[in-house]
Amino acid sequence: MIQLTEEREKTVERIILGKTGLEVNRLGFGGIPIQRVNENQAVETVLHAVEKGADFIDTSRLYTTSERRIGMALQQTDKSVILASKSQSKTSKGLRADLEMSLKELQRDSLDLYQCHFVKDEHVYKQVISSGGALEALIKAKEEGLIGHMGITSHSLDLLDRVLDDGLFETIMVCFSFLESQAREKIIPKAIEKEVGVIAMKPFSGGIIDNARLALRYVFSQPGIMVIAGVEHKDLFDENWEIFQAGYELDDGERKEIERIRKTYEKNFCRRCDYCQPCTEDIPIQTILGLRSMVKRMGKNILREGWCPKAIEKARHCSECGECTARCPYQLPIPDLIEENLRWADEQLGSP
Ligand code: SF4
Ligand code: SF4
Repeated sequence: MIQLTEEREKTVERIILGKTGLEVNRLGFGGIPIQRVNENQAVETVLHAVEKGADFIDTSRLYTTSERRIGMALQQTDKSVILASKSQSKTSKGLRADLEMSLKELQRDSLDLYQCHFVKDEHVYKQVISSGGALEALIKAKEEGLIGHMGITSHSLDLLDRVLDDGLFETIMVCFSFLESQAREKIIPKAIEKEVGVIAMKPFSGGIIDNARLALRYVFSQPGIMVIAGVEHKDLFDENWEIFQAGYELDDGERKEIERIRKTYEKNFCRRCDYCQPCTEDIPIQTILGLRSMVKRMGKNILREGWCPKAIEKARHCSECGECTARCPYQLPIPDLIEENLRWADEQLGSP
């Protein structure tokens, strides 16, 4: 077991991310929401978080302006920050190009952690680890000193389980909240045992849980993991930081409240496990069921740009065959939820 260095400030709890040896505060800064505000506010928020004590920032090539804004903020402080980014490319060539762009946007010669982003399933994972795959570029970049460590992110616990068996990555990023708590049994203990760093994402389940205190106390009560929470405003960062500093014992009233919220979402919250796939119409079901949360985090424009309109168009062809419903472990009424989400998206877009 690696001992925490004693000279570091101990006002908040710190951990070491597995074998990486990276020592961090358990509350990290997530780079998604700063895309949806103007540049000044984004830079101000990042700078405020770092000055206040955040020492781990996670972003991605996928988060549009996020890397550039974080890079601009870090130019204005001499605080040391562990910087992580990601690429969704599955090929060696693609990941290398993304890494070079990340370094440029973040204005760094090297990054502490670079991750294969959103490795959806076994098929994509095989691409990543095969010859010419993204892992090859990560290994080379590590040898060259362009990155310190190699990580992977996924919404699939089955996939992360396989990743832990293979032992090719030094960190994993996993969804974890009181609405998506399965990682607590299935993934987190195994990762800790294998000394793979665990970064928990979506502590608010993508904006569904609006009680920050309850959400954060729940995830922090799980030892051995760090948690990234994205914010776009310094007041929101302060709120999270105060909760983080205050300790995380849940009392009976809070446990009851968690149960009440769980019940509310039992039959309409998608846990992103993808067990419902494959859809006969190739509909990305979890994406459609998560439209509200995506818009909340990334802003309305996401409905008009990139892959999102295509996913929405596909979803309009749901035949209500019911094959997905039979496979969903939570018995969600998927076709009804698709219809409801499409209606909501149309309202947002102001079209029929
Ligand atoms: S009910 Fe709709 S979403 Fe489900 S498998 Fe059939 S077409 Fe796909
Ligand atoms: S609809 Fe059900 S099976 Fe599909 S991703 Fe969501 S929770 Fe999992």
